[in-house]
Amino acid sequence: CGIIGIVSGQPVADRLVDSLKRLEYRGYDSAGIATLSDAGLDRRRAEGKLVNLETLLKTEPLGGTIGIGHTRWATHGAPTVRNAHPHATPRVAVVHNGIIENFRELRTSLEADGYVFESETDTETIALIVTRALDRGAEPVEAVRQILPQLEGAFALAFVFSGEENLIVGARRGSPLAVGIGKGEMFLGSDAIALSPFTDAVRYLEDGDFVVLDRSQAKIYDVDGLAVERPVRRSVGKA
Ligand code: GLU
Repeated sequence: CGIIGIVSGQPVADRLVDSLKRLEYRGYDSAGIATLSDAGLDRRRAEGKLVNLETLLKTEPLGGTIGIGHTRWATHGAPTVRNAHPHATPRVAVVHNGIIENFRELRTSLEADGYVFESETDTETIALIVTRALDRGAEPVEAVRQILPQLEGAFALAFVFSGEENLIVGARRGSPLAVGIGKGEMFLGSDAIALSPFTDAVRYLEDGDFVVLDRSQAKIYDVDGLAVERPVRRSVGKA
C-alpha cells in the first residue's frame, strides 16, 4: 500500500517501479503503473511481487514522462490483475491508498448513469466519478476538487489525465502523502522513502490537503481550498 507519482521531462516507468520497491516494506499483494505518452494513457499491472510487474514491463514497456504507481494491499476485491491499481478510464487514471466507505452508493449512482465497472474495488468508483465530472464539462483539477467531498473514508490519491502531460493532482485524507521537489520535475509519494531516489526536499501534506503538480511547481491547498505552504523537510538523505 504505497503511492508514487512523477511529472517530468524524462522517462518515468523505471523510476516508478524503483520507487515502489522502496515501499515494499509496507507489504502489498499486487502492483501497477500508468503513464501518459504519445500512445495515450496506458497501464501495466501484475499480481504478486514487483518482479512480476518488472517482467511484464520488459516485454510490454511503457513510455512517457509522467505517470503514477501503486502497491496494493487489497481491502475490497481479491488481489487480481483486474482489481490492481491504477484504475482508469480513457480520460483519467488513479492510484489510491485507503478505503472509500460509501463506494456502493457511489457505484449505484454511476451505474444508473451508464458507467460500467470492470473491478470489484472501492477505488474504481473514484476513477469513474472523476470521469463523470469530466464528461459533464469540468476541467481536470476542478473535476477532482468537485468529487472529493463526495468520498467518505480514508484516502491518499494521485491522478493523471489523458491529454495532460504536465499535470498530476493529489489529495489526502487519513492516509499519508508527501510532495517531492525536484529540478524540472515534481513527485508525489506515500513517504520520504518513496521519494528518496529522486529528492530529499519533501513537503508532507496535512489532512484534507489537495495538490496540483506540474514539472516546475507544486501548489498545495488546504481543506477550505485556500493556497497554503507546507514546510520543506530534509530528513532523509538522497539514496
Ligand atoms: N481499498 C483499495 C483497494 O482495495 C486500496 C487498498 C490500498 O490501500 O492498497 O484496492
